[in-house]
Amino acid sequence: MNLFTESNLSPDILKAVGELGYESPTEIQKQTIPFILSDIRDLIALAQTGTGKTAAFSLPILDMIDDTSRKIQFLVLCPTRELCLQISKDIKNYSKYMKDIKTTAVYGGSSIMDQIRSLKDKPQIIVGTPGRVIDLINRKALDFSAIHWLVLDEADEMLSMGFKDELETILRETPETKQTFLFSATMNKEVERISKNYLTKPHRISVGSINEVKKNIKHEYYVVGYRNKKEALKRLIDSNPNQYSILFCRTRMETQEVADFLMQNGYAADALHGDLSQAQRDTVMKKFRLKNIDILVATDVAARGLDVDSLTHVIHYSLPDDPEVFVHRSGRTGRAGKDGISISLIKPEESRKLKQIRSQTKIEIVEKIIPTGQEVIKAQVGCVFEKLLTEHEDIFEFDDSLIPDLSAFTKEELVHKLLQFQLKDLALYYKDKHDLVEQKFSSRDDDYPRRDRDRGRDRDRDRSRGDRDNRSGDRDRGGRERSGKPRRKNEDMVRFFFNLGKKDQLKKLDVLDIINKATTPAGGSKKRAEIGDIEILEKFSFFEIEKSFKGELLNNIASMKFKGKDMRAEEAN
Ligand code: AMP
Repeated sequence: MNLFTESNLSPDILKAVGELGYESPTEIQKQTIPFILSDIRDLIALAQTGTGKTAAFSLPILDMIDDTSRKIQFLVLCPTRELCLQISKDIKNYSKYMKDIKTTAVYGGSSIMDQIRSLKDKPQIIVGTPGRVIDLINRKALDFSAIHWLVLDEADEMLSMGFKDELETILRETPETKQTFLFSATMNKEVERISKNYLTKPHRISVGSINEVKKNIKHEYYVVGYRNKKEALKRLIDSNPNQYSILFCRTRMETQEVADFLMQNGYAADALHGDLSQAQRDTVMKKFRLKNIDILVATDVAARGLDVDSLTHVIHYSLPDDPEVFVHRSGRTGRAGKDGISISLIKPEESRKLKQIRSQTKIEIVEKIIPTGQEVIKAQVGCVFEKLLTEHEDIFEFDDSLIPDLSAFTKEELVHKLLQFQLKDLALYYKDKHDLVEQKFSSRDDDYPRRDRDRGRDRDRDRSRGDRDNRSGDRDRGGRERSGKPRRKNEDMVRFFFNLGKKDQLKKLDVLDIINKATTPAGGSKKRAEIGDIEILEKFSFFEIEKSFKGELLNNIASMKFKGKDMRAEEAN
């Protein structure tokens, strides 16, 4: 099958796909479409985002779906709201000419009542995040008795977000006769275990990684502490003029913060993240494609839908946890035969992460030192000359009589004056700037024992825990037994940034209460999340909870309020 027209897909689907500009199927589509159309076995497909996997599973299923029935036949589970919206939009596009087919997306952080209302339309296709699907099952809003196809998309991601219980419940609550397709970028133990327990003799497909390490990308890293990070970024951008780049951050908030910083400093930058509406995201992506902005500051998830070939740089403002993500991010530059540069800003305590990326990806990442002001100016001068000598187009008519008598100056003096003029603002900015003190991987490095400062933090934490326990006896407000229970090790916990703080009259007990509510299902029978450190600062706070509750907490907290204020939590670095 080299062209879609050679497949057995119905004319309605082919027409929609043709309008989207798809001509030949991607590798995963070549393998998956004929399989799903003709086989009744379950499937495990190892494929990354960007390989065309949404069309790979949805086109053949759309071809076989019964449009005379108004029962749910096809369920897609995926890890995030963004992906959920993206997949349902894709499926709606593919089924554009199938007038009786309806698709509904259900995800956390949005009104459940609105979603229950939209289910009254009787869609045959549901795309949902696991937490919200479980909520809807509990409210008896979903009838899964006629499910024929179940897709677990980005299964590894869903499991690492702590959706294991939800997935198992859904796999059990759907008919045994269904065909299950598991898509995952990696095959780890958890994914293997789910496959072994819930899939029957699955057929396996693996598509060559799109994340192959490219040789034409130069990788550099700079060690810089949190305090100097933005200034270091400014210097790196200034010393790499004329860049067209994506700058990756870990959280939505960090993304917005960095984009705001760049915009305030006069760069043509903008932010792309999940807190923006779809229309806002479309506008930013359009501006970036048209090169009205040169630096796009984005989260990994939000940048997914964006496909541009001519990026000069990728900047890892924050390192990802997963080395595959590092390769995937970096691979966005160096496309279409061009060279690319990948720049990583690494905190002094992140050496282990860097080591892991290097050893797993075998990429050579070279340490560099943040440029001094002088070096920035040097790079800019080089860029002025490069442009001067390579751009030959005369844009306007120039009458030599306009040039005053310059005979008092030598050629060098004139060049010097023009450069001073051209680079005046930049030179003034860097005039009194100190060099950013060279940072080294610190003793706070993950590989070393923690420093005294951390011990101090632990003392504070113990004190605050003592406070809490004293106020609530041996049980906290959620009724959780605290005494005698060993505290979990740090790697089992995840730290969140929380948008409310002292100014909102937030107290530790309130945070405990909020965590309990956000991680306890309506029935209240389930195991409760372990809670770690809680730090309440003036405008915001931090708290730690057991990692496996991360997905549930994120899903629920977005629809909760504290004293009338919206709540927002994000994983903290
Ligand atoms: P996905 O991996 O499903 O997120 O798809 C990645 C991108 O590739 C999306 O923007 C799709 O619209 C696009 N795409 C999927 N299949 C094809 C195809 N056969 N030809 C061209 N583009 C495609």
